[in-house]
Amino acid sequence: MSSDRGPSAGAARGPSTRAGRGSSTGPARGLLFIISAPSGAGKTTLAEQLALQTPPLKLSRSYTSRPARPGEIDGVDYNFVSRERFEAMAAAGEFLEWADVFGNLYGTRAADTNALLEAGCDVVLVIDVQGARKVRQRGLDTTAIFVMPPSFEALEHRLRGRSKDSEAAIQRRLQVAREEVASFVEYDFVVVNDDVSAAVERLRSIVLAERARLRSMRHAAETIVRMFS
Ligand code: ADP
Ligand code: 5GP
Repeated sequence: MSSDRGPSAGAARGPSTRAGRGSSTGPARGLLFIISAPSGAGKTTLAEQLALQTPPLKLSRSYTSRPARPGEIDGVDYNFVSRERFEAMAAAGEFLEWADVFGNLYGTRAADTNALLEAGCDVVLVIDVQGARKVRQRGLDTTAIFVMPPSFEALEHRLRGRSKDSEAAIQRRLQVAREEVASFVEYDFVVVNDDVSAAVERLRSIVLAERARLRSMRHAAETIVRMFS
């Protein structure tokens, strides 16, 4: 886990110390989580369940130059933009991080993430390993979780079962997955997505533990301590 004190992205800059949850001066700044996994491992499925079951936790909505898949909705699954618009946003420094994944551009808009954190929501960035590295390089305080499929065969089965990608795209995703799985060592936690409910429960445990950390609870604990004096 990295500290808050290093250089940070303009709009996503965090305070050097957290006020603590339940601050009397307004909502405490939320916690920033990263979930990465090879494509098809189930991170979107898990992250959506986690958000539903663990309020006030929200998923960040990324920008992408990738065309929408059947059933995907602009402004819900992603903010779908042209490559030109994405590149202009990147040039203007609007992204906390962005990366080229499978030939398409994906990015997290710093102002979006910051607004959620400032409102007291915990935020999950569902981003690839390159993006996770960039967020860490900014020195932001994050909890990074790597989700693994239980096996290569399970990943292949899930990619095919999702039936949203061409055979060529599936082969490319499997090839990238072979390299990506080794990146688990860069993360704070590893969750194997064998069973959806069990994996969501593990993710929830991580979020709840991070919420109970001293740095998150300092203000609330100090308020209680004052009652004893
Ligand atoms: P990702 O966001 O990592 O690309 P998805 O969440 O889209 O992956 O999941 C890929 C496919 O695998 C989906 O069809 C999803 O329903 C399925 N899936 C997710 N988790 C599991 C699991 N634990 N067991 C079986 N299938 C799963
Ligand atoms: P997909 O096209 O399957 O939705 O996503 C492909 C990959 O892009 C996934 O690994 C996903 O996590 C990643 N991704 C989605 N949004 C972002 C983002 O904002 N930044 C980065 N770096 N990766 C992203």
